[in-house]
Amino acid sequence: MTEKNEKPLIRVDHIRKVYRMGQEKVVALDDVTLDIQSGEMVCFLGTSGSGKSTFLNMVAGLEKPTRGEIWIGNIPIHKLNETQVTLFRQKNIGFIFQAYHLIPSMTALENVTIPLTFRGVEKKKRLRAGKAALKSVGLEGYENRKPSQMSGGQQQRVGIARALVGNPRILFADEPTGNLDSGTTREVMEIIVKQVRRQGMTLILVSHDRTIAEYADTILTIQDGNIVNREVRGRRDEEAE
Ligand code: ADP
Ligand code: MG
Repeated sequence: MTEKNEKPLIRVDHIRKVYRMGQEKVVALDDVTLDIQSGEMVCFLGTSGSGKSTFLNMVAGLEKPTRGEIWIGNIPIHKLNETQVTLFRQKNIGFIFQAYHLIPSMTALENVTIPLTFRGVEKKKRLRAGKAALKSVGLEGYENRKPSQMSGGQQQRVGIARALVGNPRILFADEPTGNLDSGTTREVMEIIVKQVRRQGMTLILVSHDRTIAEYADTILTIQDGNIVNREVRGRRDEEAE
């Protein structure tokens, strides 16, 4: 259990996001405030259009809120310029996408090591870390496969390995199993949860699916850009491995 007086890793303070399209205004997030503790696994649960991706993108620094503040440790994410955000993301954040976003012409290993290339890590280290990341998601031996030569579940595991390879503090996952069948969904969720625990990361997950949300410690229901319910399930410690 997290201590009440522990300083949160992430502090979101009254953020609001309004998109303008011509004369029209879309309130994607109305007024969201919350703390996320280091090591916590949080899921935002809500129907399509409720503001889940908008929230994720703002905490990950991809978009700026119209109003409000986002702090990760003592870094004011809402104030960073593009270069600062890029550097912060490279060092601290891993992102898993619903549609995998792998580069089709690259092998699994090449895809996984992309973040390390951006960080200027030398080739030998990149390859070693990339192979270890693939192994951690159960894809040892798949290093030279292209995305088209892998199943959806395998492609998403490459996506997870790519998110993990730089040892981020925070892992974001936006509908990570949205394109997968139920059996593969379970496999992928179990890999995510296991690696989050193993690497001591903080997980922010987004889904419209209650069964996915149940992998998290805390389920926040989001509706029309507001958190309308908070369900603390407590940390689900691993069963014996
Ligand atoms: P979710 O991920 O829960 O499906 P989103 O965060 O993508 O929801 O969207 C929340 C609301 O904001 C929706 O009404 C959506 O149409 C709108 N929205 C999201 N992104 C944009 C954008 N770039 N421009 C205009 N409206 C947007
Ligand atoms: Mg979305």
